[in-house]
Parts: sequence; C-alpha cells; structure tokens
Amino acid sequence: MNAMLNAALNQIKETSLLLSEDYSDKKTFKKVIEKILVPQKIIKGKISITGKSGKKKTFKAYRIQHNDARGPFKGGIRFHANISEDEVRALSTLMSLKCAVAGIPYGGAKGGVVVDPSKLSKEELKNLSVAYAKFVTPYIGPWRDVPAPDVNTDGRVMSFMLEAYEKKIGQMAPATFTGKPVELGGSLGRTEATGRGGAYVLQSYVKLKKLNIKTSSVAIQGFGNVGYYFAKFVSKLGFKIVAISDSSSGIYSSKGLNIQALSEFKDKGGAFKDFPIEKGMKLISNEELLGLSVTVLVPAALENAITKDNVENVSADVVFEMANGPTTTEADNYLYEKGVDVIPDILSNSGGVTVSYFEWVQNLGGYYWTEEKVNDELKKTITKAFADIDKIKKDKRISYRRAANYLSLKRIIDAMILRGRV
Ligand code: GLU
Repeated sequence: MNAMLNAALNQIKETSLLLSEDYSDKKTFKKVIEKILVPQKIIKGKISITGKSGKKKTFKAYRIQHNDARGPFKGGIRFHANISEDEVRALSTLMSLKCAVAGIPYGGAKGGVVVDPSKLSKEELKNLSVAYAKFVTPYIGPWRDVPAPDVNTDGRVMSFMLEAYEKKIGQMAPATFTGKPVELGGSLGRTEATGRGGAYVLQSYVKLKKLNIKTSSVAIQGFGNVGYYFAKFVSKLGFKIVAISDSSSGIYSSKGLNIQALSEFKDKGGAFKDFPIEKGMKLISNEELLGLSVTVLVPAALENAITKDNVENVSADVVFEMANGPTTTEADNYLYEKGVDVIPDILSNSGGVTVSYFEWVQNLGGYYWTEEKVNDELKKTITKAFADIDKIKKDKRISYRRAANYLSLKRIIDAMILRGRV
C-alpha cells in the first residue's frame, strides 16, 4: 500500500480510538469508521486524445469520491506522471478531513490523470482537459462533486473543463468547478488562497508561541503556486526566507531571499539550478534544505517528502505542511517524540478549498464579492479552525495532527449518523 494511503488510514484508525469514548453506541461507531476507511465511489478508466503527430495517446484517469456525508464531494484534479489509485484515494480521504476541519459544507474527492504535462503541447493539454471533463461528466455537478485545480492544473484547465461539461449538459453550471479564472466566475483571491491561508495559520501559531517573527527563519521546499504565494505572504509578515527549492535545486541565503526576483526568474522558464547566484547565496540540494536549522520548515511540494530515511536530519523547530501528505507516519511519530510541532496539511493548506467554497457560494448566488471580503472571510475561517484545533490539542494533550483529525473525523461521523448511513 502507498505510504500516504497507509498514513491516512492509520490516522483515522488511531483517532477513532480516542473518539470512541464520546459514542455510547459502539456498534454503530465501529460501522461508521469502517465506512470512512473506504471511498464511496472509485471512477477509473482510460481517456484518449489525438496527439500532435496524429497518433492516438491514451492516459489513465481517476476520480475518487471519498465521502459526501457533509456535502457535495470536493477536491482537485492533478496531472502527474506518478499518480496511482492509492495516491488519489489517500488524497480524496484527506480532502474529506480537510473540508471538515475548515468547517465548510463539503465531502472529499480527488482526481488525477497519469501524464507528464511538460511533454504535452498546449493543444494536447487542452484536449486532455476536455477528455477528462467528458469522462467525469456523469458524476459531477454543483450539488454532487465539485472539482478544482491541484498539482499541474490551473484556471486555464478549469476553463476547458467547464466548457466541455456545460456543452455536454446543455446549460451553464459555473458552480461545478472552482479555481476558475475571474472572467468565468472565479473568485478574486482564489489563486493566492492556499498560500495566504497558510500565512494566516502561521501567524496564529507564532502569536500563540510568542515567537519573534523578525528572528524566525523559514525554509520552503517547492515553488509552485502554493510555495510561491506562501513565501510571498510570510515574507510580507516579516519572516526571513532563507531557502527555497524547485525540483532542480534549492537556493540558500542566510540574509534572506528576494521572493519577487525568484518568481520573475521562474516566470521566464528558469530552473533554480541555473539561477545567477549572488554573493552570500549558494545552491543546496533538496535534502540539505530539509536539514537546515531553521525556525519553520515548510514542505510545499509533493507527498512523502519527510520520511524515516531523512527525518533524523530535520533540525527545524516547527514543520509546517503546505503540501498534501508530505510527512510519512514514521517520520511524524519521530517528530512528535522529539517535541517538534507539525502543523498538519488539512489545516495549514485548507485556505485553497475554503476560497473554493466562497467561489461556489458566489456562483450559486450569482453575486460576487470584493477581494477584501474574500480575504477577511478566509482569515476568519482558518483562524477559527486553528483556535479550535489548538483547544483540542491542549485539552487532550495530543499533537496538532491528532487534534485536527479528532475534530474533522467527529464532524464526519456525526453527519454519517444523522443521515442514518449505518
Ligand atoms: N487542490 C486543493 C487542495 O488540495 C484545492 C481543492 C479544492 O479547492 O477543491 O486542497
């Protein structure tokens, strides 16, 4: 079994031991947990496009709908060469927990296509997006399942999917996809939302711990949408970002990096290994980045970044998960024993799906918010989620991850029982 799926299922099982005290009907409770361990529906198949050369190209495609007790299924679609059914299942489970932690009325799902998008032309990427939308059309909709962007997908991909979906059903239905461009009913602030939300959570954490922002250093693994906006917002708050990496290399500067300059370099298609290094800077490997002695270490790339093989090198005071599933179970246990706080993904990166919810609300109401309102509501929602989790952590003397799982699992279990699904 894939490490992330193993971690997600273990977390549910362990948390259920804590939660069972709150439920007198043990038989029903056990049945609910058994249901939550498996997805409600696995949609998988092959989708094809006609490639540049005129030859047919076929790809494996998935949509896994984990649980919809709290509302329509919700979650992104990723295009990546290493996707497996287990991975999509794990990510769909994390989405159910994430929406429950954020307190937004959704279940969880995830989608994926096994493809290396960097090998596709623009036309092929469009055709693949259309083919995927047609593949999932019978299973999605504003009150059924609402997809969004994830790794290697963006507003452009959502636009192609929306168009294909609406053509097929014969009417407009913008609330079927979130993360759309503003011109097609997207929400102001959605693109930045995951990074911005993370910055709000980190702000709450440092306030609680009475840390001095000015002397707090941050190292970030990953410089995609999430890593970039997170870096931008936390450096605005006054944190010193001493290291950032992309898949080619890491860049380190004890004086702090200029995020804007790095972003402009990336926008021109550059890889960090070719970055014009200035005085005081040096290139470092991803492994070196993970071992830096910083205040906050932020895995913001892919899953399984911190594992039993490298966790002993982690020298940060706090691990702040902006990627989905970046810490394996063994690594998480090790960090807990060592007294390192791990701020869990389902809380720290929930800003993206929270603003997806605002986008859906705006689409359903046909009335659009100012960016200020979006950011204010995001701050309120995510700061409250942090405070709720911190309270449970203290009351029960457990880790932040356990506390987040406790809160989210309880909400899902209660919705399942109310619906009489057992
Ligand atoms: N892909 C993002 C996540 O993992 C956003 C999902 C959504 O907005 O539905 O949280």
